[in-house]
Amino acid sequence: MNKNGIVTEIHTKIRKEPFSTNYELVGKELGRGKFAVVKKCTEKATGKQYAAKFLRKRRKGADCRMDIFNEIAVLELAKANPYVVGLHEVYETNSEIILVLECAAGGEIFDQCVADNDEAFTEKDVIRLAKQILNGVAFLHRNNVVHLDLKPQNILLTSARPLGDIRIVDFGLSRRMDKIAEVREILGTPEYVAPEILNYEPISIATDMWSIGVLIYVMLTGESPFLGDDKQETFLNISQVNVDYSQDTFEGISSLAVDFIKSLLVKNPRKRATAEECLNHPWLNHLSPSHPHLHAMSASSLDEPEMSQSESEPESPAPS
Ligand code: ADP
Ligand code: MG
Repeated sequence: MNKNGIVTEIHTKIRKEPFSTNYELVGKELGRGKFAVVKKCTEKATGKQYAAKFLRKRRKGADCRMDIFNEIAVLELAKANPYVVGLHEVYETNSEIILVLECAAGGEIFDQCVADNDEAFTEKDVIRLAKQILNGVAFLHRNNVVHLDLKPQNILLTSARPLGDIRIVDFGLSRRMDKIAEVREILGTPEYVAPEILNYEPISIATDMWSIGVLIYVMLTGESPFLGDDKQETFLNISQVNVDYSQDTFEGISSLAVDFIKSLLVKNPRKRATAEECLNHPWLNHLSPSHPHLHAMSASSLDEPEMSQSESEPESPAPS
């Protein structure tokens, strides 16, 4: 591991034979980012489908082979967690490294985040998916890995309809944090970056937790909490933690969900909830608010939390 938390020792065999010897590309592209194209493929020997991520080794004239090894090393480490995408094989050509990944056929959660009502997530869906995302991220954090690029384009689904399970992808920016690395140079996607990144302050696992706060906000409301008309306005909204928690935006969403998001969109990284704390939050540990009758059997005072004191109407006159 170097001083920036980049890990380059990997155990996966790097295959030098042509990728096309063992795989057939099928159909359309699954997605693309700045330096990668991801295509669906079939393994000839088994007929199984995979997602092949083609990464250019040279980017803007620089050799990025070690950054790709870092991405592979994190995928190897996370093999034990079901919510991190599986790595099957690695190929190398003169110009590219190809990661053969488990195929998450349901695509990005981004699509449902911006979808119309009938296709959008319900709060019950978001609760189930949030638990899975946090399970994966808690695993990474226990192993001192920060993802640093958590956003709806990097959270995939095993299937879209019926709604399947989460797979976290894209470890291109991830770092090992056991040295509390002074990683000040990385910039993720503007809308999802934490205030400490904008201020060039040290990054920690809490940086991911901010992004999860933004992610859950978007999944529940369909709106990006800090997005301004331009980058500058977005950055200002982030550094001032200018968030709309109005009834209007959170119509039909429980106040526990709002409370959960508020525990993450906290400017001071030390005061932000951790992944473990999030997993223990009442929002993720109670029955769906859309089925209030299911609550009838249990006695906890947290069982009917949809409305906070100030906004709830008493159902019957208070005893005098
Ligand atoms: P980049 O580092 O360039 O952002 P990603 O790993 O995020 O690359 O992949 C780019 C896009 O390709 C993703 O946003 C997603 O849409 C798609 N994709 C990546 N991995 C998979 C996969 N395992 N299964 C299905 N689609 C994938
Ligand atoms: Mg990506």
